[in-house]
Amino acid sequence: MKVKDFIKWAKSMQEEENRIMLTKGEEYTVGDEDKFKNFKSIAERVKTTPERVALIYLLKHMDSIRNYILNGTQPSDESITGRIQDARNYLLLLGGMIAEDTIDRKYCKNCGSTLGIDCGDAEHDYNDGFCSRGCYQDNFSTINAINQSYHVD
Ligand SMILES: [Zn+2]
Repeated sequence: MKVKDFIKWAKSMQEEENRIMLTKGEEYTVGDEDKFKNFKSIAERVKTTPERVALIYLLKHMDSIRNYILNGTQPSDESITGRIQDARNYLLLLGGMIAEDTIDRKYCKNCGSTLGIDCGDAEHDYNDGFCSRGCYQDNFSTINAINQSYHVD
């Protein structure tokens, strides 16, 4: 593909992804003004973080893309291009959540509880990112499990 053709193609992909982001936006916000409302709501219900919910969605698309590259099989319900566009949008949403988190970190990175509030006066937060020592240690067990699942092949 020539550079000028790639730039033209990339631009049309980005426009399509923006259109998808706006269309599916209603799904993510559930009518709320918070762009990440749906992720936060799911995270709260399963006691994890919004970032992890988005990561799970992203990995689902990445598995389809991986399957396509390795086996040449298209996902049955959506084109490979659609999967790539969705994956890119989940990355964008994750980037937004990380930006929001960096500006105003307030959730335990492991269990999603609000730092400085949920633990009350009886127990201080373990550090800037975790509510307790248990959550700090548990977070690294989860990261190791995710890493291991991507090294098995
Ligand atoms: Zn925690």
